[in-house]
Amino acid sequence: MALAQTDPTTHPNEQGVLRPSGSRAVLIDGKRASEEVVAKISEAARGLAAQGLKPGLAVILVGEDPASQVYVKSKGKAAVACGFHSVQYDLAATTSEAELLALIQKLNADQAIHGILLQLPLPGRLDPTRVIEAISPSKDVDGLHPVNSGLLAIGDLSRALIPCTPAGSMVLLDKAAKALGVDLSGSEAVVVGRSNLVGKPIAQLLLGRNATVTIAHSRTRDLPATVARADILIAAVGRPEMIRGAWIKPGALVIDVGINRVAGEGQDASGHPKTRLVGDVAFTEALDRAAAITPVPGGVGPMTIAMLMENTLRAATRIAGLGEPSL
Ligand code: NDP
Repeated sequence: MALAQTDPTTHPNEQGVLRPSGSRAVLIDGKRASEEVVAKISEAARGLAAQGLKPGLAVILVGEDPASQVYVKSKGKAAVACGFHSVQYDLAATTSEAELLALIQKLNADQAIHGILLQLPLPGRLDPTRVIEAISPSKDVDGLHPVNSGLLAIGDLSRALIPCTPAGSMVLLDKAAKALGVDLSGSEAVVVGRSNLVGKPIAQLLLGRNATVTIAHSRTRDLPATVARADILIAAVGRPEMIRGAWIKPGALVIDVGINRVAGEGQDASGHPKTRLVGDVAFTEALDRAAAITPVPGGVGPMTIAMLMENTLRAATRIAGLGEPSL
């Protein structure tokens, strides 16, 4: 929803944030930020190639879920664009757990592969926990292995691989904070959502930055009052525009992780009803309250794949004994 529709005269500043005229909030441009990350990764990968190291990413897709097929294709494409070795395994929906575990063992031992990504969700008969735990923690570029969750929980970011969406959300938050002169340290942060994939890791990252963190969820007694305390608001709920503008503290920085497809207006070229994407925050209302907000689409979404590339690069340099990549 576009900034251009909000105000065609808006201009980006050097931090990649834009202010639609008449609105209080600046928009945090995730597409631009993701392009910056990918450019840095490609440059670092060229440097590693000169040392004989080519980061390798293996993506495993089980079954034929159309959305997962699209995601997996984009991940492979991004890996190639970064100069990585990229392989994709398309497994039948009928693949047994033993077959999947055998492939993971093979990739764990493969020296050309530094990152293993298992596209979720898996077909219902397969237990994601058992399969994720079979991935070597050093190659777990989705950051979902309990070893990586544990390292994040104890604040050991030099060894953890951090889940991509939370890591990308932090990059955008840092950009907004820098552009607006906001100090995350000591701020009140509210994360709405407590999933292992998004809510909990973001809360850990914010805690690591010395924010005072509240995690809200479906049993939170008074969500509007909880949200109203937030200098930093992270919405990771999966409910279209649930968080209303009036709940938001004036001047808050808002990262909207939600991606929800809702009915749009009219029909597309093939006569199907149009749909559109919205976040978990009522965007137009929030523009009048927040100091900065990520749009949906074009906010956190593009950062997720960029951070997967960063994790693959990081895994490769760590496995090769080169320490942290310089980005
Ligand atoms: P989950 O469904 O795993 O978690 C949703 C969380 O929201 C739960 O903790 C749930 O609480 C909480 N919740 C649900 N309803 C309410 C409510 N009424 N009030 C308060 N809290 C509520 O979702 P994910 O964390 O995987 O994803 C969240 C959103 O982020 C989704 O829209 C998803 O599409 C999007 N997403 C975007 C990505 C990106 O690349 N930008 C990547 C991953 C996700 P409880 O635990 O009590 O049930």
